[in-house]
Amino acid sequence: MLKVLVIAVAIGLLLWLLFGRGARNAEPPRGSKHSPPDGAEAMVACAHCGVHLPRSEALAARSLHYCSAAHRDAPGDAPPHP
Ligand SMILES: [Zn+2]
Repeated sequence: MLKVLVIAVAIGLLLWLLFGRGARNAEPPRGSKHSPPDGAEAMVACAHCGVHLPRSEALAARSLHYCSAAHRDAPGDAPPHP
């Protein structure tokens, strides 16, 4: 009778180790590879001078973003080299 109890406890412990802790580890980390948190806006870099500004304030042209119309219309607007 005692053997059955020991085996049952051992199986329960094994299941807890396999699923109880495994499920917790399998939980995806929070706040990673998702859209920015509420209130934070995506930032873009001006293709002319490299300054960062919120996407809503940037001027988009030719799939690039600019901080101002002057930079958007400026010649030689290749992305700045780091
Ligand atoms: Zn600029």
